Amino acid sequence: MRIGYGFDSHEFRPGIPLKIGGITLDYDQGLGGHSDGDVLLHAITDALLGAIAAPDIGALFPPSDPKWKGADSAVFLREALKRVRDAGYCVANVDASLILAAPKIGPQASAIRARVAELLGVAEDCVGLKAKTPEGLNLENAAIGHVVVLLEKMARPANRKQSARALKRKK
Ligand code: MG
Repeated sequence: MRIGYGFDSHEFRPGIPLKIGGITLDYDQGLGGHSDGDVLLHAITDALLGAIAAPDIGALFPPSDPKWKGADSAVFLREALKRVRDAGYCVANVDASLILAAPKIGPQASAIRARVAELLGVAEDCVGLKAKTPEGLNLENAAIGHVVVLLEKMARPANRKQSARALKRKK
């Protein structure tokens, strides 16, 4: 069993779409960043990578690389999930806290949870999501994500390479 923790923050900027958890929310500002600025998917990606002691999201997808400009953050999450599976683990559950003054997340929370569950290949009741306002933090223009993830060892190795390694060990 492994636990992973991820944190991310992005600044609100006018004139760009707001993407959180793989969903585009109706709002007059979006989150700036080299990719699509999806603060929740970035924090989940880092939690997954951290759980298996892999390089973090900034190391794997450097903002200096023009390839990731405007990228769909689901790409980052899928790569992290692949690494988790290659390491022989699967996601048991994920729990996230979002901190932002606006917009209200409540009305979209179930859509966000459903999309995150779909991306992670888990049931919706394995994705927790809370939204808080940044009271007393003076962070009205930022969105912050904190995520913990629990991984379980898979019953069988994820790929042939691992199966071969396991066979070798048995010999
Ligand atoms: Mg980020």
